[in-house]
Amino acid sequence: MPEGQFDHSPGLLTVYPRIGGGRKPFKYFTMWKSSPVFNDTIQAAWNTQVSGRKMFMLVSKLKTVKIALKDLNKSGFSDVQAADLNAHHDMVAAQELMHANPTYQCLSNKELEAIQEYKIKHKAYLDFLSQKAKLAWIKAGDENTTLFHQSIKSRNIQNQVYSIHDKEGRWRDKPGEVSEAFIEYYKLLLGSVQESRTPVIKQAGCPNWSSVKAPGPDGFDVLHHGKLLKEVNHTVVTLIPKTKCPRNVGDFRPISCCNTLYKCITKVLCGRLRQVLPDLILENQGGFVHGRYSQYKGSAGPSEFLREMMECLEFPVQFVNIVMECVTTPMFSLMINGSMHGFFKSQRGLRQGDPISPLLFVICMEYLSRILQKMSALSQFQFHPRCKELFSNSSGLKANHQKPSIYCHGMSDGDVQRVVDASGFVRSTLPFKYLGVPICSKKISAAQCGVLVDKMTARIKLWSSRNLSYTARMQLVNSVLLSLYMYWTQIYVLPKSVLQDIVKICRAFLWSGHAYSSKPSSIAWERICCDKQSGGLGFRDVLLWNIASIGKYVWALATKQDNVWIKWVTSVYLKDGEWWDYQPNNTASWYWKQVCSTKEKLKMVFTEAEIGAMSKYSAKQVYNNLAGNRPKVHWDRLVWNRLNTPKHRFISWLAIQSRLQTTAKMAKIGISSSESCLICGQKDEDHHHLFFNCSYSKQCLVAMKAWLGINTTAVDLHQLYRSIKHGRHSKFRKQVYYAAIVALVYLIWRCRNTSLWDQLVPAVKVTVGTLKQTVKSRIQAILPKYVNRKDNSWFVSL
Ligand SMILES: [Zn+2]
Repeated sequence: MPEGQFDHSPGLLTVYPRIGGGRKPFKYFTMWKSSPVFNDTIQAAWNTQVSGRKMFMLVSKLKTVKIALKDLNKSGFSDVQAADLNAHHDMVAAQELMHANPTYQCLSNKELEAIQEYKIKHKAYLDFLSQKAKLAWIKAGDENTTLFHQSIKSRNIQNQVYSIHDKEGRWRDKPGEVSEAFIEYYKLLLGSVQESRTPVIKQAGCPNWSSVKAPGPDGFDVLHHGKLLKEVNHTVVTLIPKTKCPRNVGDFRPISCCNTLYKCITKVLCGRLRQVLPDLILENQGGFVHGRYSQYKGSAGPSEFLREMMECLEFPVQFVNIVMECVTTPMFSLMINGSMHGFFKSQRGLRQGDPISPLLFVICMEYLSRILQKMSALSQFQFHPRCKELFSNSSGLKANHQKPSIYCHGMSDGDVQRVVDASGFVRSTLPFKYLGVPICSKKISAAQCGVLVDKMTARIKLWSSRNLSYTARMQLVNSVLLSLYMYWTQIYVLPKSVLQDIVKICRAFLWSGHAYSSKPSSIAWERICCDKQSGGLGFRDVLLWNIASIGKYVWALATKQDNVWIKWVTSVYLKDGEWWDYQPNNTASWYWKQVCSTKEKLKMVFTEAEIGAMSKYSAKQVYNNLAGNRPKVHWDRLVWNRLNTPKHRFISWLAIQSRLQTTAKMAKIGISSSESCLICGQKDEDHHHLFFNCSYSKQCLVAMKAWLGINTTAVDLHQLYRSIKHGRHSKFRKQVYYAAIVALVYLIWRCRNTSLWDQLVPAVKVTVGTLKQTVKSRIQAILPKYVNRKDNSWFVSL
């Protein structure tokens, strides 16, 4: 069927069998810890006698521990799992026996028995696992933990590659061919050496080529042999797809997973290097030094170039040798479809994922910087292709001609064309995206921020099917949505309309669980943006946070930080003027005007001396000053108490402010036709009635007070809280009381809702039972350390 005439076209669906085989890397499972023999097993394995060099001893001991743990796993780390495995084994054996002798009736009976047995044992094992999971859930629940974030991920992303174009563009889809294609590609990429290199020319540098402060060899006695065992420098390369649907072997980003031992060694080296780099590296690479070098995205350069560079910079021989040992000895294995493939050597020095690589990359790039600086010192300096070649020939770092683009500004078209011709690069125009953020010289438009808004809504779409509690949504807004935005605010003053959109999205998600909603909020956004002591949820006000983030540049100028940007704005704009009183003129760039207007906003809460006195800029501190002091509420300890079950917190936060959508409230705005209580039907359903006057709640409250032994005649939430707060109870008891109160508020609100939606109100006895059980299991799971014996036995007796 020719395309163009029909809007339907046939599709070919290929189903690949599951590829088995390949070595699985050793992984540590925390569940092993539950075995009673876990500690002894590890200790026994670790204490085996090994002689030889220290590194050899360490590697051998780790190997013994690994074998011991594998045995532990096989023999069963807990009885249930061992029983489950044994039963499974027996069942398979019985089945094989039956298949071999199909005529024996007794074997068939045995097989049925074995199946029954396995079913029972397997269920016990699953129960054990789910019980463990449930306990973890009661403990962490909707709190901002890894458990929480893992459980809201839409699915376990597993990248299975069944077919791929290899480096010659051939389609490979047989089992085994895929891994072969990857290994061929990476062997070539990492294992090849450039021929006929030009060695590093010392004269290319400026006169201060050598440094006074190159790191000395002392303190390296742990590493004084300077030799690494191949086990230590074994790197597993994980492939992360660069595109949604990768087609070629090159469509993956290799991430090296170095082992912990190797990381410890390089950490020592990094520490040394970091101290001397600022003195060695020219300013125009400024972004890399002072701890801000993490933007490096390069791949690999040959190691000989690195050695020559380090020798030219006069690093001590011993140091150079250790670094070279680290970068030249790694053995690589590729991780494909969950198993390891290949074991090959690399000829290239640097790898992404190795902590020392970014620093070494800076050293290599220094050659280019110095060539350029030397050239620019010549009076007849113009763009000269030679300097680029000289660098490429020596370093083996070649600019990828498909990737980079040249950005020209304020140059004549003729000059631009000459640059393009000479470099062979493509000319691009601003804005472009760097690390996910658009870079442009003019005002950032709302449309450019669309990416940010899209990112937020995409996240919400993943979550919206999940029926999350208010507390869970609150955590997500705070930890995910607003942090996406934080990243941008460090760079830009965002347009007002974008800030409004961000607030709209976060607000809609908090109240409705969707990215868009017309549902009215129960509490104003400004109130939510207060901290918890002032009655809010501790969200950050996006506008103020933006000012506080950009304030960093105001501070940098006020304290005259040493970097290229400061020097540049000083020479272009500030000249000899005083920064604090400076006013930009109309011709200044949009960005610079934004920095200046941020300064004016900071002036309202800071004096020049106060800004200048900060030795380090803290956006958080500036934000707090901008936000000002808000009146404190007295009930924050009741609502945000640590022992509360997370999902109870939000409802009680609303209840204590009388902001739940009670029937009386709904009737007032015309949504409900009746005002009467959904539980008893006797009186108007306002907060006071629902939680204290309703016959249902009264009975629950009496039962709860009897359970905990609270003596109070309080008739509303505030009174109840105050009477406990001022009572003579230990801190732990107060916290238990609070946890019970918020649990009761939550349960009564739930009863009222089940009555509305399911016409069902559980008996008082049932609600009280649920209350006791939830409060106890939550507190048991996170029992604080400071609880004394008396309180502890009181709690256990509950
Ligand atoms: Zn009632």
